[in-house]
Amino acid sequence: MIPSRFEYYRPDDIRGALAVLNEHGDDARVMAGGHSLIPMMKLRMAEVPHLIDLQGIAELRGIAIDGAEISIGAMTTQHDLIAHAGLADAAPILREAALQIADPQVRYMGTVGGNVANGDPGNDMPGLMQCLDARFELVGADGTREVAARDFYEAAYMTARDDEELLTRIRFTATGAGYAYEKQKRKIGDYATAACAALISRDGDRIGSASVAMTNLSDVPVWSQAAGDALVGSTGDAAAIKAATDAALADIDPTGDNRGPVEFKKHVAGIIISRAIARALSRA
Ligand code: FAD
Repeated sequence: MIPSRFEYYRPDDIRGALAVLNEHGDDARVMAGGHSLIPMMKLRMAEVPHLIDLQGIAELRGIAIDGAEISIGAMTTQHDLIAHAGLADAAPILREAALQIADPQVRYMGTVGGNVANGDPGNDMPGLMQCLDARFELVGADGTREVAARDFYEAAYMTARDDEELLTRIRFTATGAGYAYEKQKRKIGDYATAACAALISRDGDRIGSASVAMTNLSDVPVWSQAAGDALVGSTGDAAAIKAATDAALADIDPTGDNRGPVEFKKHVAGIIISRAIARALSRA
């Protein structure tokens, strides 16, 4: 299909993008890699009279690592995440998750900013960012603010970002924890039927910290405080993994669709969550 008519803008700095957003409000949308937005426009599920292409804004790209502090520009592609050796050392869960997104063609264009800003419950990065306790930098006419990934998602395609704001960077602190991103999908290139990110660190023979978050098991990504609490202080034995999995399952709210009915999704989720926790523990 062919999208409705739109005006095309290609600013070369953040100010230029904000100027168009401010002038046209919710009649304007930014485009990053375009791999979610363009299909929506072609299907006429998104009407965008003013389309702002972010590809010309160099300051939105790049990965900076300063000790444990990591900052990723919104226009960094999923391929860039996979290829960055420093990031693979500092926060290997990003590479592991990005490799499970779609296929190389999509990953060359799809950006981290587009993936987290979109608000699609099927996108893999939002749950991952909640697991990492990342913060999103938002820039608008009134200045800059940060919103925690765990507070950002309100409903499917609804986020804490105002229409006139641009998501510019993602920041988090790397902890060196054991990690795993487990994803069940129907075929290569598909979105998750269920996916789970886990970060676990040991303190002696006990678990000192644990963070567990899930993808496509509710209309928003789900970070489960209860799952982490069930692991902390335990040795990470089978009983603790089961308790954490049960706690995580109590926090999800999947809907039936072409990936299966609700009971099937809960069953798959249970397996994926246990696997993610066990694998993160084996690396802790
Ligand atoms: P765009 O499509 O350009 O934008 C998406 C939305 O975010 C738009 O509403 C746009 O206005 C907004 N936006 C983008 N950047 C910003 C910004 N900086 N500030 C504010 N708003 C912004 N994703 C997965 O996670 N897992 C998958 O398994 C997966 N499979 C896919 C399979 C196929 C065949 C395709 C085509 C896509 C798939 N995707 C998957 C989605 C892909 O990762 C997208 O690229 C991603 O979701 C959006 O990134 P984008 O850069 O293309 O954003």
